Amino acid sequence: MSIPFIDLQAQRARIEDRINCAVRNVIESGAYVMGPQVGEFEKQLREFTGSAYAYGCANGTDALTLAMMALGVGPGDAVFCPGFTFCATSEPVPLLGGTPVFVDIRPDTYNIDVDKLEEAIQAIAAEGRLTPKTIIAVCLFGQTAEYPELAAVARKYGLTLIADSAQGCGATINGKHPIEWADVATTSFFPAKPLGCYGDGGAIYTNDPRIAELVESLRVHGQATERDMEKHAFDHAPKYLNARLGLNSRLDTIQAAILLEKLAIFEDEITMRNVVAEKYSKALHNIVESTPTILDGYRSVWAQYTIEVPDRAQFQAHMKDQGVPTAVYYPIPLHQQPCYKGVGRSYNDLSVSDEKSHKVVSLPMHAYLDNDTQQRIIDAIGAFFENRR
Ligand SMILES: *Cc1c(COP(=O)(O)O)cnc(C)c1O
Repeated sequence: MSIPFIDLQAQRARIEDRINCAVRNVIESGAYVMGPQVGEFEKQLREFTGSAYAYGCANGTDALTLAMMALGVGPGDAVFCPGFTFCATSEPVPLLGGTPVFVDIRPDTYNIDVDKLEEAIQAIAAEGRLTPKTIIAVCLFGQTAEYPELAAVARKYGLTLIADSAQGCGATINGKHPIEWADVATTSFFPAKPLGCYGDGGAIYTNDPRIAELVESLRVHGQATERDMEKHAFDHAPKYLNARLGLNSRLDTIQAAILLEKLAIFEDEITMRNVVAEKYSKALHNIVESTPTILDGYRSVWAQYTIEVPDRAQFQAHMKDQGVPTAVYYPIPLHQQPCYKGVGRSYNDLSVSDEKSHKVVSLPMHAYLDNDTQQRIIDAIGAFFENRR
C-alpha cells in the first residue's frame, strides 16, 4: 500500500460535515465575492497572528506582490531574499521593475543568513546603482527566519522587512508571530501548505495603518480609500474611483468559509505535526546525514520535514520501491533559475544554497500521519542505510 505525501483526506474526514455545511451556506447565500465569511476569517486571522490588520487575497504570490506594491518596490530598488526558497518569493520583484538580490542561507535552518544579508546590503549600497529597499525573509519548511535580528538589520540600513510566511503560517518565536518584527507578513492557503484551503488563497498582515490602507485598495483594482475620496472630492461609490493601479486579488468566500473551519483545528494540528516531527528526529538523527534544526524558542509548523542524504537519487528510488513518496524542495536555487538570468543579482557566493539543492529530500509530513505508517517510513530509511554498509 502506498503512503500519501500529504494526507488531505484524513483531515477532511475529521471536519467533513462542518466543511460541507459551510460551503453549502455560501452557495445558498449567493455572496460569492467578499461575503461575510471573508471578514470573519480576516478577524480571526488578526487574533491568531496578533496583527492589527489582515486581508485575504487570491494566493500567496499575490500576497507578496500586494505587499511589495504597498511598500513601493519599483525600478532601481534592490530587494534582498534567500537564494534557497520557492520561486514565488522573488517572482513579483522583477515584475514590479525591481531587482532581486539573492543571499545565501544558514546551513542548519535553511533560512536567510543574517550576516551575509548585511554584507550584500553594504555591497549594493557601495556600488551605488540600486537602492537597497526591502528584505524578504522566508519561513522555510515551517520555521520562521530570525526576525528579531532581521528587523535590526532592516532598521540599521533603513529597509523594510517582509515575512514570506507561505510555509510558516502559525510558526512563532517565543510565542510571537513574524508580524511582531516584520512590516508586512504574507501567507498562502494553497492546499498543501500547513493551513490550506480547497483551491488558491492567501493573506497579508500588518500593524502599519498606511500599509493596511494601501493593501485594502490594491487588492481591488486600487479602489479609493477614504483618504482618496476626500482628496479627489469624489461623491460616488469608492469602487468607481481608481486611485492607483491595483490587482483583482480577493479571497473567495467559499475558501474563507472552509478556512474558518480549518483554522478552528489548526492549533491542534500544529501540535500533532510537532509530535510527528519529534518521532522522525529521534529515529533518524543517527542514521541520515542531517535532520532539521529548530532554534531555541522557535516553533515550527513543519510545512516539510526535510533531511539530507548522500546519493539522493538512489535514496528516492529505494523509498519509491518501498511505497514511500519523497520530494525535493528545491532542486534549483533561485540564483540558478533561468527566469532570473539578467534580472537577479547575487553578491556573496551562494555555496550553501547550491550544496543543499543537491542533498535535501522531504519525507511525508502531515498532522494525521499515524504511528504505524510513520514507522514503515522510518524502517524503509533504515533499510537503505543498512544496505549501504
Ligand atoms: C507556496 C509559496 C508561495 C506562493 O504561494 P501560492 O499561494 O502558491 O501563490 C510563496 N512563497 C513560498 C515560500 C511558498 O512556499
